Amino acid sequence: MKELVILGAGTAGTMMAHKLAKMLSPEQWHITIIDRDDDHIYQPGLLFVPFGMYDPDELVRPRTRLVPPTARLLLDGIAAVDPDEKTVTTGAGEVIHYDILLVATGTRTAPEETEGLTGSGWYDTAFDFYTMPGARALHDKLIWWKGGTLVVNVVDMPIKCPVAPLEFLFLADAFFTERGMRDDVRIVYATPLDAAFTKPRASAMLGRILEERGIEVVTEFHTARVHGSSRKLEGFDGREVDYDLLVSIPLHAGAEVIADSKLGNDLGFVPTDKHTLQ
Ligand SMILES: Cc1cc2nc3c(=O)[nH]c(=O)nc-3n(C[C@H](O)[C@H](O)[C@H](O)COP(=O)(O)OP(=O)(O)OC[C@H]3O[C@@H](n4cnc5c(N)ncnc54)[C@H](O)[C@@H]3O)c2cc1C
Repeated sequence: MKELVILGAGTAGTMMAHKLAKMLSPEQWHITIIDRDDDHIYQPGLLFVPFGMYDPDELVRPRTRLVPPTARLLLDGIAAVDPDEKTVTTGAGEVIHYDILLVATGTRTAPEETEGLTGSGWYDTAFDFYTMPGARALHDKLIWWKGGTLVVNVVDMPIKCPVAPLEFLFLADAFFTERGMRDDVRIVYATPLDAAFTKPRASAMLGRILEERGIEVVTEFHTARVHGSSRKLEGFDGREVDYDLLVSIPLHAGAEVIADSKLGNDLGFVPTDKHTLQ
């Protein structure tokens, strides 16, 4: 019997488990898929939680219901991967040998990598919405917020779903308009890109819509540090952006276990051939 081990039962790991369960003979292949818990979060829905458009519970499904029944779902942390020995060690100490390993541990936000971001004001005047705790905390803040300068800041690229910050800006514009307080809110988008979006045509169109909605764009802003107590972003070029409420899209990184194994780079991303993903 050969062993296929999938690390991560998120979107990619779950989809691949289904595809491979159909393609591989169960007499020849045994599939194990590992994730730390049973909560699959539908991440695109996190955009809507801050504005009360989704209840957090609506975004969570048990992984046990989502993976193919022929695969073994192991709910445990992935503690180590040894590509030389072809083994994966779980948090509980189980050592699993693999013939083929599929890395689907996704990306995580790393707000602690930006000086000051998780210091004074974190989850009080500075939030993220790419995580469930962040999206929930931001919702609790927004329903009572009286207005001021809202800054949405992408710390650095790449991020998952580069359009999500723009969607957030438009949702914020609609949210404050509906609450009759749009005139009390200045919305600023501080991005490391040289335009609103990554692609030139979309950038031109989106830039125009942002302008029509009165959303200011600060381009090529590379966040060096956050001064939480004086509510200021400082860029590497010395520019400063003041805020009353900061919504940060923090630096993204891969799983630490991938960085620690010999598979990934320092950020935990696995360099691959983009045509084969090998
Ligand atoms: C706000 C937001 C909006 C988005 N909107 C869209 C959209 O509109 N369209 C779109 O296509 N995409 C969107 N995305 C992106 C999409 O959600 C991701 O691209 C997708 O979830 C990536 O799937 P993945 O399987 O690679 O990673 P994930 O779904 O994150 O899964 C990785 C899994 O690995 C597990 N894992 C990691 N490390 C360990 C460890 N050490 N031990 C055990 N388990 C571990 C995690 O628990 C997780 O379940 C959005 C994302 C966000 C945050």
